[in-house]
Amino acid sequence: MRSHYCGELRASDVDQQITLCGWVHRRRDHGGVIFLDLRDREGIVQVVFDPDREECFALADSCRNEFVVKVKGLVRARPAGTDNPEMPTGAVEVLGQEFEILNKSETPPFQLDEHQSVGEDVRLKYRYVDLRRPEMAAKLKLRSKVSTFIRNFLDQNGFLDIETPILTRATPEGARDYLVPSRTHEGHFFALPQSPQLFKQLLMVSGMDRYYQIAKCFRDEDLRADRQPEFTQIDIETSFMDEAQIMAITEKMVVELFKSQINVDLGAFPSMPYSEAMETYGSDKPDLRIPLQLVTVSDLMKDVDFKVFAGPANDLNGRVAGLKVPNGASLTRKQIDIYTKFVGIYGARGLAYIKVNNAVDLEEGLQSPIVKFLPLEVRAALLDRLDAKDGDLIFFGADSEKIVNEALGALRCKLGEDLNLMTCEWAPLWVVDFPMFEATSDGGITAIHHPFTAPSCTPEELQASPLTGLSRAYDMVLNGTELGGGSIRIHQQDMQTKVFELLNIAPEEQQEKFGFLLDALKYGCPPHGGLAFGLDRLVMLMTGSNSIREVIAFPKTQSAACVMTQAPGIVATKQLRELNIKLREKVTAE
Ligand code: ASP
Repeated sequence: MRSHYCGELRASDVDQQITLCGWVHRRRDHGGVIFLDLRDREGIVQVVFDPDREECFALADSCRNEFVVKVKGLVRARPAGTDNPEMPTGAVEVLGQEFEILNKSETPPFQLDEHQSVGEDVRLKYRYVDLRRPEMAAKLKLRSKVSTFIRNFLDQNGFLDIETPILTRATPEGARDYLVPSRTHEGHFFALPQSPQLFKQLLMVSGMDRYYQIAKCFRDEDLRADRQPEFTQIDIETSFMDEAQIMAITEKMVVELFKSQINVDLGAFPSMPYSEAMETYGSDKPDLRIPLQLVTVSDLMKDVDFKVFAGPANDLNGRVAGLKVPNGASLTRKQIDIYTKFVGIYGARGLAYIKVNNAVDLEEGLQSPIVKFLPLEVRAALLDRLDAKDGDLIFFGADSEKIVNEALGALRCKLGEDLNLMTCEWAPLWVVDFPMFEATSDGGITAIHHPFTAPSCTPEELQASPLTGLSRAYDMVLNGTELGGGSIRIHQQDMQTKVFELLNIAPEEQQEKFGFLLDALKYGCPPHGGLAFGLDRLVMLMTGSNSIREVIAFPKTQSAACVMTQAPGIVATKQLRELNIKLREKVTAE
């Protein structure tokens, strides 16, 4: 129907007869001349209708926003002084000669340039209108370019694109499963994959050597910010490569992706051990654009007469840490109150601080509600350890190590943004040397990555001290976001059984849930490893979006529902009966 996209027309097209199809973005009546801004996926161009073509003119005049139209016309340069350098098509306009309304539109639920005035729910309910916004179209276009680049890169490097089942058994990745009842096997359920983890490992056993898939994953997680129940991974697995080789090839992929698509040089990625990331940044995905660091001061606080500090300082699982904000002494009481509330979200019960007004005057030069509890020599050692200068402010976290890390780690990022402390635009890194396991609140242990991750020690060593054993896992982090994570896998059955055992999975349960994997490990499983990138997060960062919902065509809400289709929905009793499912009576308040 069309010869050109609206957004593609340039000065070089002047004098061409063209046909456009698109949506009326805006209609303006300028003293007897009608201007229609016509929009399609590629952008907007101005079309002019003169009254001397009467029929055309009347039709154009009758158009309203979001009507779908077809225009034949002549591209011409805009009259001198009326060109618009802000618009890619701003040097030209189209003189409308033939005009057809292909479809009318009711007044849209929101004007495209007023999307901010309506709630996200309205945007999601009318997502097909929301996606007409040039900004959203640009995001989906980049997303498409990113997957095409990744496919080409991996294909050129010998990776095979292989699909794995969606109706499957549970794959533990730390979330709840979405279950699908089986009609043909009464009382049995499929689980949607939390990731293709086990299938990609089995593909290595089958000799496929290098696999990738742009795969949908499903996780029924508690509603944490910016998670989607279904999301997309760039899932990768290789045989006979060690962690350094896997990291090198995937780093190359990401570096070339950023350079080719958004002209960003990420440079070489540094590596940081997990322990250092937690100690210095309070996070396993540190945002290295922010120069602030956590500094442990527990040893200095062991004997102070201030329980809030001395308690955690003398507790094996406790931590007292300082976070110095250069020139932070100018923060107001009100600002500090806001930060105190903020760390409360992470369980911190307060936010002690010291303003360093005069670092040489330890008696009078430190302004703080808590400084009176600290002997002079502690004050001196503190300032020395944090290298605090006049005008600086030190925040403190004192609690369990977990709370201090989470609270100060988050505060560090918030301060970085609020006070504009970013030292660069992009800060990638690898986090390595993760522990295999972490303790759970009920006294057990759980895998930090997943139970198929290889430890960097022997089964005996792991058994002797499960909580200190390290894994061969690695995460790629960019600007404080985990872009991807993976590991070298366990490829020997005795090690896999040992890890299941340590995770308190009884032999029968091991067989029931993972018998097929344990079997496969017996039949010539090669050493292998891989990783998976979150495609949504990757595109979010590349487009500067602040949520993954902005780069997913039809995302779900925070409560895991689709406001457009009203999914999840109720189903007819007949359908439930076929599935042998009976819903429990709703418990109503007596
Ligand atoms: N399957 C893992 C995940 O979803 C990634 C990997 O280990 O390759 O996080």
